[in-house]
Amino acid sequence: MTDFRSDTVTRPTAAMRTAIATAEVGDDVFADDPTINRLQASAAQMLGFEDALFASSGTQTNLLALLSHCERGDEAIVGQQWHTYKWEAGGMAVLGSIQPQPLEHAPDGTIPLASIEAAIKPDDPHFAITRLVVMENTTGGKVLPMDYLREMRALATSRGLATHLDGARLFNAAVEVTRRRRAGIREGAGPDSAAAARAREGDVPLEPRAVAREICANFDSVSVCLSKGLGAPVGSLLLGSKPLIARARRWRKMLGGGMRQAGMIAAGGLHALENHIERLADDHANATRLAEGLIALGHQYGGLQADLPQTNIVFVKVDDAIAQAFADHLAAHGVRTTGSVGRYGSGLVQRWVTHLDVTHHDVEAALVIAAGFFEARR
Ligand SMILES: *Cc1c(COP(=O)(O)O)cnc(C)c1O
Repeated sequence: MTDFRSDTVTRPTAAMRTAIATAEVGDDVFADDPTINRLQASAAQMLGFEDALFASSGTQTNLLALLSHCERGDEAIVGQQWHTYKWEAGGMAVLGSIQPQPLEHAPDGTIPLASIEAAIKPDDPHFAITRLVVMENTTGGKVLPMDYLREMRALATSRGLATHLDGARLFNAAVEVTRRRRAGIREGAGPDSAAAARAREGDVPLEPRAVAREICANFDSVSVCLSKGLGAPVGSLLLGSKPLIARARRWRKMLGGGMRQAGMIAAGGLHALENHIERLADDHANATRLAEGLIALGHQYGGLQADLPQTNIVFVKVDDAIAQAFADHLAAHGVRTTGSVGRYGSGLVQRWVTHLDVTHHDVEAALVIAAGFFEARR
């Protein structure tokens, strides 16, 4: 069986299980779990923040950030499709009395700066107090351009707003930016050629951790999932200034998220940060191969379309006429994806995600199974 539903389905490797089994632990509510302290300190240093906090999930680290930036009656600017707005059960509104201001994003995943600017409320008693701009990177598997992030940050700063990044897949973005820059240098051109030219002069990072730090420099806080493509079983980190993380620590306790000998799970995250960042490039290559194969099937037989992915998420649009049968065929042959018939209007939009537990061989096998569906109908 190959599980393409999400990169959250990864199971710990043997080496990660050893790290977990041998982790030193203490009581993290007393801040004396050495493994958690090591994870927080090393992530903060890696990403250029003063402090960090380990929590149970990305939903919780995003919520902790929102609650720590905003007071009751404040407003956060978010993307209409973003996790912080749409997929976290309305937490900012329910638990923080924070008003979300959702905005449509452009096809490249950015929210046009003019839309952000137009949504910032004047100081007037009729309006909520705009406090925070939230971004998501990657978003739908797309990488937000570095120049865009810098311009967004400049706009936020000029209007006195803080910025938070939902970086659930921050390292997927960093690994892809790194690949483009290195390719740009090799080819002397390409999508990021200006950056490549500066990189040749040594001024642009060419290593995923340094690129991740460069992305993070545009934000007051960042959340990062350890339990997605990085492959840890549980956990997420919130990074920020010391005062922000101190506020987040209080909210975490209030939400019941203060865990005791949680070094057991943090050890998986530490192992992931030390060993699983570069390999995200394999997931991206597998996703590209998967999309190419599905696009070729669409050309040959009709009935489906896919876009080439930037990172590890492939969206596939399947025509109404075959949507249910195709989904059933994949499921019957042990290929799991998400997406449901009719959910997005007509047909089926499937999401195929590659990750640590999907090999190159699994991708080829899934393509043979998908081809078998069309062959059988000829
Ligand atoms: C997965 C994800 C999260 C957090 O999800 P949890 O399941 O709560 O860890 C946050 N933002 C984005 C964009 C995500 O994909």
